[in-house]
Amino acid sequence: MRTLVVAEHVRGQLRPVTLELISAAKSLGGPVEVGVIAKDPSAFTGEVNVEGVDEILAVPVDQDEFENDVYQQAVEQLIAEREPEAVLLGFTVNSMGYGPALAAKLGLGFASDVFAVRDDGGLVAERSFYGAKVNGEVEFPGHDRVVLLVRPTAWQPAEGSGSAGVTDVGFNGSGSRARHRDWVEVQAGDVDITTADFLLSVGRGIGDKENLEQFEELAETMGATLSSSRPLVDAGWMPNARQVGQSGKTVKPKVYLALGISGAVQHLAGMKTSGTIIAVNTDPEAAIFNIAHYGAVADLFEVAEELEKLY
Ligand SMILES: Cc1cc2nc3c(=O)[nH]c(=O)nc-3n(C[C@H](O)[C@H](O)[C@H](O)COP(=O)(O)OP(=O)(O)OC[C@H]3O[C@@H](n4cnc5c(N)ncnc54)[C@H](O)[C@@H]3O)c2cc1C
Repeated sequence: MRTLVVAEHVRGQLRPVTLELISAAKSLGGPVEVGVIAKDPSAFTGEVNVEGVDEILAVPVDQDEFENDVYQQAVEQLIAEREPEAVLLGFTVNSMGYGPALAAKLGLGFASDVFAVRDDGGLVAERSFYGAKVNGEVEFPGHDRVVLLVRPTAWQPAEGSGSAGVTDVGFNGSGSRARHRDWVEVQAGDVDITTADFLLSVGRGIGDKENLEQFEELAETMGATLSSSRPLVDAGWMPNARQVGQSGKTVKPKVYLALGISGAVQHLAGMKTSGTIIAVNTDPEAAIFNIAHYGAVADLFEVAEELEKLY
């Protein structure tokens, strides 16, 4: 299935989701084309030239950074010229801005938050519904072209050096009516939990705000980054940037240690693809144990004490 992947980049860095999209595209059997829309596409064409990519389409535009209408026009142009059957964008803030509009304007099939795809004589995509309580398959009868917003972390990043040629595509859109002005930095002291290898995540089981300091110290001692479930953020104990879950961040650390987190679907949606999940909970029936690789039915304070002794 001919597939077009749209590369995502921010502040001069290729976003990891781009290589995951290439893996998803490869699973559809190819050919795989990657569109790089940037002021200087050559800054990214090397990085996306991985095994399995057949052609890189460089689209030079005036803007340094992402703009909704520029991307929409550029992808429209690539679709018209290349006629892909599937167009893969990240399920990210950027792509959410123009992907649905693109599909609606061109009358294409569309699905968001997709975590599996296959070519079954027609494209079939899997996605979650009802706050990740139900997974469903979506078919696109009557559509020979489909736009999918693909969930970050659902595929392994594509790797291996590729030998794709780079084709320059002259952008023929009318440019942007908006301008990127500047960046708002995250609050001082906040970290990006999505890039951490080891997350120590605390939930309502810690009981009181006063107890938080103990886990901040434990995380530091263990070389982990502290994250949390939503109630701690709602209570103002933890900053938004540390929230894992459906309405927080999607994370995929090598190790996710969950202390006093019950495992509500909205929480699991943000961490269930973590490498190794370790859960500590006093309730043997807690849903977190359904996805944990290792679990301890134990008091989290006792476990924390033992861990402190170990380090
Ligand atoms: C639209 C929507 C979006 C949401 N988005 C998110 C989201 O992004 N992220 C998120 O996390 N939630 C989200 N939620 C909330 C979610 O439904 C749960 O309410 C929340 O995840 C529960 O957090 P928790 O596990 O910390 O608390 P609880 O469910 O109260 O669980 C606390 C756990 O701690 C255990 N415990 C208590 N004391 C101890 C102890 N001493 N030792 C060990 N274990 C102990 C208990 O057995 C219990 O399992 C969302 C909800 C909605 C409706």
